[in-house]
Amino acid sequence: MNSYLDTDELGFYGDFGGAYIPELLRPNIEELEQAFSYYRNDAQFIDEYKSLLKDYVGRPTPLYFSAKLSATFGAKIYLKREDLCHTGAHKVNNTIGQILLAKRMGKSTIIAETGAGQHGVATATACALSGMECKVFMGEKDIERQAPNVLRMNYLGAEVIPAVSGSKTLKDATNEAIRYWINHPETFYLIGSVVGPHPYPKMVAEFQSIISEEIRQQLLEKEGRRNPDIVIACVGGGSNAAGAFYHFYDVPEVQLIAVEAAGEGVMTGKSAATSALGTPGVIHGSMTLLMQDQDGQITEPHSISAGLDYPGIGPLHAHTISSGRVQAIAVTDNEALEAAHALALTEGIIPALETAHALGALNQLTLNPDDVVVINLSGRGDKDLETIAKFINKTS
Ligand SMILES: *Cc1c(COP(=O)(O)O)cnc(C)c1O
Repeated sequence: MNSYLDTDELGFYGDFGGAYIPELLRPNIEELEQAFSYYRNDAQFIDEYKSLLKDYVGRPTPLYFSAKLSATFGAKIYLKREDLCHTGAHKVNNTIGQILLAKRMGKSTIIAETGAGQHGVATATACALSGMECKVFMGEKDIERQAPNVLRMNYLGAEVIPAVSGSKTLKDATNEAIRYWINHPETFYLIGSVVGPHPYPKMVAEFQSIISEEIRQQLLEKEGRRNPDIVIACVGGGSNAAGAFYHFYDVPEVQLIAVEAAGEGVMTGKSAATSALGTPGVIHGSMTLLMQDQDGQITEPHSISAGLDYPGIGPLHAHTISSGRVQAIAVTDNEALEAAHALALTEGIIPALETAHALGALNQLTLNPDDVVVINLSGRGDKDLETIAKFINKTS
């Protein structure tokens, strides 16, 4: 049977994916692909990964029935509590998986790039755990804007290397990381979302698939069935969404909703709604949908949440959205801020501003009382309190 998760021999999901990389990196990618294909079926590898997810990350994360959201929106609404993972978000599910793989491959140095610093922190965490050297590339401007995460990475023993070219943000950090990788092929490049050249999107989706594996188990206990009616997740690059959707892609009766950041509004020029505004192009080593002008220059994205402020989207999402399997919804900065505050006030849970977009999508749906809806609560919002405070001061 054809699955939405199948890639062809070149790593394409339909029209999207592949590995658009300098020839010099071909051996690195081949080495990674071989190791991944082997260890994903290796019982010892899987045991070690599952045991760290349980005792270090704190899995399974709860599937919490929100009586308040259910009453407000007239459906049975559950929250998958990835915010309760060690380090406060889903990202660690992936960094732990890749670190174990790097160790098996005999690597001792990990490189990564980070924008807001969340992936940098999750990588530094996994490196500290496994005794790996860690170098994180970060735009000079982001280093200034995200000082607490820089401090966290340093405290965990990672070296943060400033990218000083271009706009001094994520795109430039990515270029620096790739350049370093070419010159130091003995290092392991740890990518933080379902983006990058094949096999990264496939590998990251597989490490995050634990989220929907648990949802199925937990729904069976709570609702007597494995499949919800609707799953909702926010999409930056798309790793938490890929994990939450994973085991439902090929179950057509489950509706899948990917929520993008509309910023100040999809058509305002200050948005990160990639699937609405994007056209096919190559970013970060894969063919996907991205925001670009007519000359193929990448358009600067905007979102109040740093984790959704990305001009591309993983190729799996480009494929499943353009083929109609996944529905994309855009939620603005203001709608996200309101949804975050509502959850804080009614449930005592402060969600990440990324996650708040998924919550904000509820306003746009028509739900039935019997609908079982799962929202992936990708992370906790402590990191966003300063942004929230600024917004409150601006509007009051
Ligand atoms: C990084 C991040 C995201 C966005 O990344 P995806 O790869 O799209 O999941 C979403 N939520 C939180 C809490 C994050 O830290």
